[in-house]
Amino acid sequence: MPNTPNVEDAKPPGHDPGVAPGDDLGRRSSAAPITALYVHVPFCQTLCGYCDFFSVLTDKTQFAPLVDALLAELDGVRTQGPVAIETIFVGGGTPTTLPPSDLERLVRRLHEFALATRRGRAADLEFTVEANPATVTQRSAEILAAAGVTRVSIGAQSFDPSELRVLDRIHHPQQVADTLRICRSAGLTHLNLDLIFGIPGQSLESWRANLLRALELGPEHLSCYGLTYEPGTPLHERRAAGMVRKVDDETEAAMYEATIRTLADAGLRQYEISNFARPGCECRHNLVYWRNLPYLAIGPSGSGNVDGVRYKNIADVAEYIRAIRDKRSPRVHTERPTLEQQIRETLLMGLRLNDGVDRAAFRARFGRDPVEMLREVIERCETLGVVACDDRSLRLTDRGRLIADAVIAELA
Ligand code: SF4
Repeated sequence: MPNTPNVEDAKPPGHDPGVAPGDDLGRRSSAAPITALYVHVPFCQTLCGYCDFFSVLTDKTQFAPLVDALLAELDGVRTQGPVAIETIFVGGGTPTTLPPSDLERLVRRLHEFALATRRGRAADLEFTVEANPATVTQRSAEILAAAGVTRVSIGAQSFDPSELRVLDRIHHPQQVADTLRICRSAGLTHLNLDLIFGIPGQSLESWRANLLRALELGPEHLSCYGLTYEPGTPLHERRAAGMVRKVDDETEAAMYEATIRTLADAGLRQYEISNFARPGCECRHNLVYWRNLPYLAIGPSGSGNVDGVRYKNIADVAEYIRAIRDKRSPRVHTERPTLEQQIRETLLMGLRLNDGVDRAAFRARFGRDPVEMLREVIERCETLGVVACDDRSLRLTDRGRLIADAVIAELA
């Protein structure tokens, strides 16, 4: 399942030619340390028809070279600018397709790296690895736990075999329960399940059954995304060819409302449009994205945001490995968003959070108050009951969250 939450969505439209491709963190000037690190492992056992993240079929010959390259790119980060890692997220792709020896050397080094940047302090490090149910073994779970991984995000997507087939998922629903059991027995206690609603052929009842089955398994965190038909994906083509039918908007809205209600009743607080957690189990790494704060990213297609510069690595495993081996920058794109773009993105991302945009933090960062800036449109949205604000924050209401895209577009 997608992992770098909406990094692409957050990408600003402009490009500042003043930042040359290949610029790297060696030129950093900011004193504020970067706290988040994303690591992309693009291998998957099969490719899902709806996926538009950079993923490729597993190639055994590239496992070790990719991990070598990731660790070499990481070494480059070590020498550049202030970094004090609080969260690591290894996503993909399916990181748990790596064989045990490569998985172990990757997660161990990432953990060492994080500790080195925070003077050995291990407490409070959030270390997430994404996993697919068909790929987690007792051995791999133990490797993750021993290396300091604190969170596993499991791509369940559905508990209905026919829905999984529509998504091209290769696991059986029972393997989700097995994966949670294996993780817990290895000592991995913070578990997330990804679920998808609006799958072609899915009814409201079937979605409710999925939610209830997920809750039976007792995850600490649930991410529930509406299925999207991204241009260029096989699922998009199947829809265009009439092979699958999109669930109608009304049913999809009812599914989303059922999600919020069912999970709230079960004690999972919604803290972002698609994310729900038991108190204290929110994903701190993803909060960095939603607050539009800086983060590092390594690996093929990795997209980072450092010192006001966004960068993207090459989305090609062999080329990425070659670039690192040849001591060339793997970056193929850098851009420096204007202040206006940063403001817009910070609003756009922050409004996804139930806590909304923190006015004091926004003022400290941009020297402007978001409510003053948008007074007219906020008043209009307040009248409609879709936005609320007070001295502390600007945020969507429950009603506004149901039509979040439209409200955020209006505001941002
Ligand atoms: S498992 Fe499927 S959805 Fe997840 S990254 Fe791989 S291809 Fe994409």
